[in-house]
Amino acid sequence: MTYQHSYARSISDPVAFWAEQADQLAWYHKPRQTLINNTDGSHCWFADGRLNSCYLALDYQIEQGRGEQTALIYDSPVTATQQRFSYRELRDEVARLAGLLRELGVRKGDGVVIYMPMVPQAAMAMLACARIGAVHSVVFGGFAANELALRIDDAKPTLVLTASCGLEFDRVIEYKPLIDRALQLASHQPRHVLVQQRPQAKAALQPGRDLDWQQALVNAQPVAPVELSATDPLYIMYTSGTTGKPKGIVRENGGNAVALSYTMRHIYGMQAGDVWWGISDVGWVVGHSLIVYGPLMTGCTTVFYEGKPIRTPDAAAYWRVVEQYQVNALFCAPTAMRAIRKEDPHGELLAGYDLSSLRQLFLAGEKLDSSTHQWLEQVTGKPVHDHWWQTETGWPVTAPCVGLEGSAARPGSSNRAVPGYHVQVLDDDGHLLGPNQQGAIVIALPLPPGCSQTLWGDHQRYLQAYLNTYPGYYHTGDGGYLDDDGFVYIMGRTDDVINVSGHRLSTGEMEDLVARHAAVAECAVIGVHDDIKGQVPLALVVLKDGEELAEQKLQAELVANVREQIGALACFNRMRLVKRLPKTRSGKILRAVLRKIADGQAYVPPSTLDDPAVLGEIEAVLADLPRAG
Ligand code: AMP
Repeated sequence: MTYQHSYARSISDPVAFWAEQADQLAWYHKPRQTLINNTDGSHCWFADGRLNSCYLALDYQIEQGRGEQTALIYDSPVTATQQRFSYRELRDEVARLAGLLRELGVRKGDGVVIYMPMVPQAAMAMLACARIGAVHSVVFGGFAANELALRIDDAKPTLVLTASCGLEFDRVIEYKPLIDRALQLASHQPRHVLVQQRPQAKAALQPGRDLDWQQALVNAQPVAPVELSATDPLYIMYTSGTTGKPKGIVRENGGNAVALSYTMRHIYGMQAGDVWWGISDVGWVVGHSLIVYGPLMTGCTTVFYEGKPIRTPDAAAYWRVVEQYQVNALFCAPTAMRAIRKEDPHGELLAGYDLSSLRQLFLAGEKLDSSTHQWLEQVTGKPVHDHWWQTETGWPVTAPCVGLEGSAARPGSSNRAVPGYHVQVLDDDGHLLGPNQQGAIVIALPLPPGCSQTLWGDHQRYLQAYLNTYPGYYHTGDGGYLDDDGFVYIMGRTDDVINVSGHRLSTGEMEDLVARHAAVAECAVIGVHDDIKGQVPLALVVLKDGEELAEQKLQAELVANVREQIGALACFNRMRLVKRLPKTRSGKILRAVLRKIADGQAYVPPSTLDDPAVLGEIEAVLADLPRAG
């Protein structure tokens, strides 16, 4: 099957295309209704199909003879633990935990909040919910109490599952006080909090409400997967919107299973028995699609890593894991690779490891700058692919489909649309733009299976945020363009596009140029206020360790580079050195906050901020910038 054929068919006849894909799943009842178009623009995939996602991920794999194959490898440099679970062992653990959840009153359709570090019990908790039809909502284990409370009030869980602590390379983060505080703040109260006690910190349990996970499990009886409708929700994943209220993305069982099994095979080129490593946290969408459901539903071995790219213990940590478990392909965010590059710029640490099992590396989550891209290809000697998706879609929108013949990759782009996604570019008035014209990136409806079709408890907000802006299209919120061959270039969120004297310019493009400078470890380019031009770009630059280039000299070189590559119209003439950039815990640079600081506007530090102290450092560096008004 070629990419070209699959893509053309998926767009011209999505019903036939996805019916064929769905046919390959082990449904309890195969869907006859492939697609229903709702009048409000949303869609319903596989409405009458019946299945269970936990069955597909575990029991079905055992039925296919993979019972003794390793399903999950837990590698935790922060606790010096390495543990393997076969498909049978994982199924048995999950079936008992599911039995416990049921004993504790969790029913089909109930919400369950999971607030846990990267321990295998987090994956077991997700799968146990899926087994009995409960709707899990994993909250990233570093969110502060008020953010957790917001999510608890929205998801209204019957049960909260947690662990006593999470671990960084240098500290223990106690989770239980955060849960206690969140439950003081929340109006909704779960019946119970199930606590996994880790030896690094013992949590105090509140009698009646809190239960010790291990003790509670002792008498639990395993339960079988229940039959669910394809449209029953599998999970809620909160993501930040433009307001303070997080958006509860809803993922349905049927679409998710079809989309992920397609993704693993045709995009990532994985087969049953392969070892896959999704480097992320279960608290993010990647954790759901690429650590738990995707690889297990494909019969792969999934690596579950509780560590960092650096300092656990060093910048070769990833390469050690690849060698040790013979990882065949991995997913990672560019920020992690930049951190590794900063400490091991010449790949000297990497050279000590055998990466021969690795076929390719996939990067997403933010733009993969060409400098990091080239470096990574050079030091690993492997193909490195940028690809683009969102929490809302749950699986890649653009990517090289390495499992399909004729699929090309083009460095510098996020590659072509994956079968199922009709990616187009519109101007502000909703008119279609041609190749190489920059505008809003949209996806013509219908969205393929797996993409969120609503927000938990707020369908109107879904319509407003995604479908109403450009009728007939899903609004991605990203800006960019397609080249003559259909390769997609994501230039950042639409609000990262700046307007300098009426010229639309991408800060992403400038960042790419700045990052190519040999002394630059990392950078952000933002639009700052200018009385005459409206906005002008400003680069914030983190130098590589050991670089001592004078600020003025570096600025002159960067200005010359941007002028040469983009032109004088970019008005790129300012740069500041900073020690580090403010980031979310998932590694995204907080450009909106940087813009506010630069323009001297009031701002609220986002709850997703990794380290609040960084904001003070940035304020000091930017104090002398000209302000609006
Ligand atoms: P999230 O839902 O948190 O995964 O964030 C999705 C957003 O991250 C997208 O809308 C993009 O703005 C950005 N993003 C993800 N992958 C890429 C990529 N490969 N290139 C550029 N931006 C990306």
